[in-house]
Amino acid sequence: AIENKEFRLLYQPKLDTKTGHVTGVEALIRWYHPQLGAVSPEQFIGLAEEDGQILAIGQWVLHQACAQLAKWRELGFEPEMAVNLSARQLRSPELVGQVESLLQQYQLSPSKLELELTERVILDASHAQTQLSLQSLQDMGLRLALDDFGTGYSSLRYLTEHRFNVLKIDKSFVQALADKGKEYTLVAALIAIARELEMSVVAEGVETAEQLLLLNELNCPSVQGFYFSKPQLPDVLDAQLVKEDGCWYLRP
Ligand code: C2E
Ligand code: CA
Ligand code: CA
Repeated sequence: AIENKEFRLLYQPKLDTKTGHVTGVEALIRWYHPQLGAVSPEQFIGLAEEDGQILAIGQWVLHQACAQLAKWRELGFEPEMAVNLSARQLRSPELVGQVESLLQQYQLSPSKLELELTERVILDASHAQTQLSLQSLQDMGLRLALDDFGTGYSSLRYLTEHRFNVLKIDKSFVQALADKGKEYTLVAALIAIARELEMSVVAEGVETAEQLLLLNELNCPSVQGFYFSKPQLPDVLDAQLVKEDGCWYLRP
């Protein structure tokens, strides 16, 4: 798929909850297969992790994301770019050097790159190379986000074992927010914990005005979801962006 140029990165904006400023984007891979059509990452990332091809795919993703940041910079659009990383990539001794040379090649500030990690990566953190990669990337100035927080076996202990910069509240909690029930209390508590630990918070999977209202009420700093925009090809996203007083917004 890499050789045949069948992969594309789509970008989904992240917004400041209070102001509506577009502060960042998350890169999400798609495989446009000539016969199968658009294949979801859920269908191939797991397999690619098993057979090691995730290393080549992951490197392609990082390169593509950095190239896109450089393109956007020419338009004056300088979002934070979040990239999803697999456990296997962090176990590779080559990752840190690859990131360093991409930042160099595209003259990007490391603070513009955010790496989203799931518990699968964290479970692996006892692996010496994983620890080393996480620490080196953070020392370089990249931000680390804990993805899908609250699902699977994700434990509060992860929050103390490594100093993450961002907590991403899983969409299953956000989508259950509507009734102001238990999830509301849970999300409020997660936001409070993150604030105490000096982590930023992103609520993912926001689909309705009501969910946004509740997240605003809870002072959740950032939001992302279909309510604002689906993941889009860069030129489609470009057409939705407007700049006012130096800040970028999504066209209503
Ligand atoms: P994720 O990192 O949790 O990404 C969020 C997923 O939720 C994306 O699915 C996104 O399209 C979807 N989403 C966003 N907003 C909404 C919403 O409002 N409602 C609902 N129902 N869904 C929403 P996608 O693009 O199919 O990606 C699935 C997973 O595949 C990602 O979950 C991530 O774990 C993985 N993935 C995607 N791209 C990459 C990549 O480049 N590298 C690696 N290692 N994994 C990737
Ligand atoms: Ca993610
Ligand atoms: Ca997620």
